[in-house]
Amino acid sequence: MHDFKFRKNELFCENVKVRSIAQKVGTPFYCYSYKTFIDHFQKIQKAFKEVNPTVCFAVKSNSNLAVLKALADKGAGFDIVSGGELKKVLKIKADPQKIAYASVGKTDNEITTALKAGILFFNVESLPELKRIDLIAQKMKKKAPVALRINPDVEAPTHKAITTGTLKNKFGIDLKTAREILTHQEKYPFIKFKGIHIHIGSQITKIDPFVSAIQKMIKFLETLKNLGVTLEYFDVGGGIGIMYYDTPTPTAEEFAKEMVPLLKKTGMKIVLEPGRFISGNSGILVSKVLYLKDNGAKKFLIVDAGMNDLIRPALYNSYHNIVPVKKSSAKRSTMDIVGPICESGDFFAKDRKFPELKNGDLIAIMSAGAYGHVMSSNYNVRPRVPEILVKGKQWEVVRKRETFEDLIKKESIPKFLK
Ligand SMILES: *Cc1c(COP(=O)(O)O)cnc(C)c1O
Repeated sequence: MHDFKFRKNELFCENVKVRSIAQKVGTPFYCYSYKTFIDHFQKIQKAFKEVNPTVCFAVKSNSNLAVLKALADKGAGFDIVSGGELKKVLKIKADPQKIAYASVGKTDNEITTALKAGILFFNVESLPELKRIDLIAQKMKKKAPVALRINPDVEAPTHKAITTGTLKNKFGIDLKTAREILTHQEKYPFIKFKGIHIHIGSQITKIDPFVSAIQKMIKFLETLKNLGVTLEYFDVGGGIGIMYYDTPTPTAEEFAKEMVPLLKKTGMKIVLEPGRFISGNSGILVSKVLYLKDNGAKKFLIVDAGMNDLIRPALYNSYHNIVPVKKSSAKRSTMDIVGPICESGDFFAKDRKFPELKNGDLIAIMSAGAYGHVMSSNYNVRPRVPEILVKGKQWEVVRKRETFEDLIKKESIPKFLK
């Protein structure tokens, strides 16, 4: 599953004692396992090998350059959603022909940069966007490669903030409009229509929604074929869910077993965009206990990480397993594990049975590799925490802790206040 394991009551990341990292870099910090990243990338690749997919890691789930480089070196492509992410993957010399670019609001600048870079395709999310790309491509005397992101209108059982595949969501083009576009390609002379794309949501732990969405697309592709339109690529998106604690989720093979026969039938080139599946269990957030507070009604374990460092519990009410970095024999009781921020939403666990740790003890918030550091902020004037990458016995800081100077360097007092 992952490479964070206890040896003689001490938590290790691969062959490095997590506590020894804390002694060198202080807390809080994110700690990533190289091996877990690569294993999960290869699990997907292997499970779907019959359709020889281009596996494009979703950069938004974890965009550290070291992580991107490690995956690119193993042959990963990238699913990006902004000009910033594009620049990051170009910086690590990713193969542009393995970059798919989605986002409902691409700017002229972003479109131009991506066209220059020669990406695989834009995943286009609306008719106005398509027209805009056509216009920009014309000015650049280029043909823009495009896959239409179709909104298949299927419900995926996940948190409402991360479902994307119904017509109530802002994502993708409805089937009727998509058919209109694809049967009148001559209206967009500077677009090269390469394929279709779907992405129905995130942290989906059931196989059915993927199957129904793919089946819907197969029907759509058949309709298109009858109208004389064939396409090269089918980008199936991401969204495969992971195990956050002890409820088992389907494995990559189990997903593939149902999906591959359908995908094979299309005869198209397949693109997959897993994010969380690759990064989720590859990282932890390590934090130090400050206080154990008992207000008579309830106990609170107050730690030095906050919702600005990991917002998933506050944002999605997500469950994260939490463990003491050194196994503890302290009395266990029911408590909330919370950060220092002035918000009631600043918690990591509610009513959790946990040892009564004391000041200075370390905890690890597990499965924090996806949508962790990338969603962090400076709220409460808190510097963003460092990221550490471990490989075997080696480890390095791959993003330094921000300093107070970093936090204020873009701010200034205006002349009229001086
Ligand atoms: C977020 C996103 C993904 C990755 O989602 P995961 O749930 O992390 O796998 C893939 N494709 C697109 C278009 C996305 O927006």
